[in-house]
Amino acid sequence: MGSAGPTALPALRTNPKFIFFTDFDGTITQQDSNDFMTDNLGFGPVLRKKGNEDVLYGRRDFRDAFRDMLDSVATPFNMCIDILRKNITLDPGFKAFFEWARENNVPIVVLSGGMEPIIRALLAHLLGQEAADSLQIVSNNVAPRNGKSINDVGGWQIVYHDDSGFGHDKSLEIRQYSRLPAEERPVLFYAGDGVSDLSAAKETDLLFAKAGRDLITYCEKENVPFTTFNDFSDIHAVVKDIVTGKLSVKEAATGRK
Ligand SMILES: [Mg+2]
Repeated sequence: MGSAGPTALPALRTNPKFIFFTDFDGTITQQDSNDFMTDNLGFGPVLRKKGNEDVLYGRRDFRDAFRDMLDSVATPFNMCIDILRKNITLDPGFKAFFEWARENNVPIVVLSGGMEPIIRALLAHLLGQEAADSLQIVSNNVAPRNGKSINDVGGWQIVYHDDSGFGHDKSLEIRQYSRLPAEERPVLFYAGDGVSDLSAAKETDLLFAKAGRDLITYCEKENVPFTTFNDFSDIHAVVKDIVTGKLSVKEAATGRK
């Protein structure tokens, strides 16, 4: 592509016709690592669910509710990673989808409200180091608190990606692609499950929302077209049909199943 250069967008490097953006927690993985830490090491599920509802119904910013959740976890960061490695499992269809996407030049970009060192450690553990290194990840990060090390008790805090009310406004990354001129613009997909995906939900050509989760409630409330998935084997089947021209993105947006 003529626009290749130092400022070229990373997911355009191989001139793809399709790009697959995806949430990480509860989408690529079966459990949400931040929810897991909050429920088991922090203030617990009752306060967490109350926080999620406040965000979903517009009473609070995701940014503040999410920081409260994570601030309730005092466990050293390296111990958090060890605990998560033992408890978080991969979506059963993701590995096959990942391999198919690689072979078919469909770049996968992870857009996450979680913290990059946790996402990298879990992907290396679940998919292998080489696969983990090959994925582009745009997410929040972690930093030490009050002169401590992140591996001390109460020693870490989340560092947000941007100044938005989302902490990480996932639409910012997607818009760099959706605003390309029509002849350069790939078809854009997004998969997600929850409140961290609200900013991304309206930005792509086809949104996959996880069955039974908060993102579906939001899409129906806001009239955002979507299709439901149970695991990545559902996504794999639909994306494959679109890539091979058997199905259009409009036909695929079937809503709640
Ligand atoms: Mg999620």
